[in-house]
Amino acid sequence: MEGSGSHSSQSSSSTWATGGHGPPLPYREGPFEYEPVVMCNCRMKAAKLTSWTEENPGLRYYRCRRARTGSDCGYFEWIDGTHTSYMKKLVVDLCKMIWKLKEENGELLQQLKNVEELKRLNNDLMMENAAKCDELNAIQKELAERDAILEAMAKKSARGPCSSVSWILCAYVLGLFFGVVLGVVIFG
Ligand SMILES: [Zn+2]
Repeated sequence: MEGSGSHSSQSSSSTWATGGHGPPLPYREGPFEYEPVVMCNCRMKAAKLTSWTEENPGLRYYRCRRARTGSDCGYFEWIDGTHTSYMKKLVVDLCKMIWKLKEENGELLQQLKNVEELKRLNNDLMMENAAKCDELNAIQKELAERDAILEAMAKKSARGPCSSVSWILCAYVLGLFFGVVLGVVIFG
């Protein structure tokens, strides 16, 4: 069941799983954290990887650790058997579902971030508003104090028997009176 002949090779497979999505699930083990050791033609421990191509989704394989370099010995060997067509479709559909959910999750997180930003802006505005209210209250208080002072001054002025207006009137009347008297004395 193993061997590079049973599946299409990695290099010719489509990049279905790597087209901006990444693997649907994180690898559960590092490429070299496995036993027993499998050596490639370079006499080095081969990397144990998982395919996420549309052709062979989820199937594991060994590959030369120098893959895609000039020193690649070309070693490649499947670990798992081939998928039935049903299993292949099932894995592909599950992968698509995982990516869709991840995308939706990303959109929801973005919406949440927007809501949090709006809340922050709202709080800032409310704080600004409260500060302006305090300022207005202080101005109103000052105006009320000035009103009270003006009112007190007006009352004091009206209550006095000889306000400045009264003094002018008195002087005017007395002036007239003495003028008339003097006129009478001189010309009468
Ligand atoms: Zn090698």
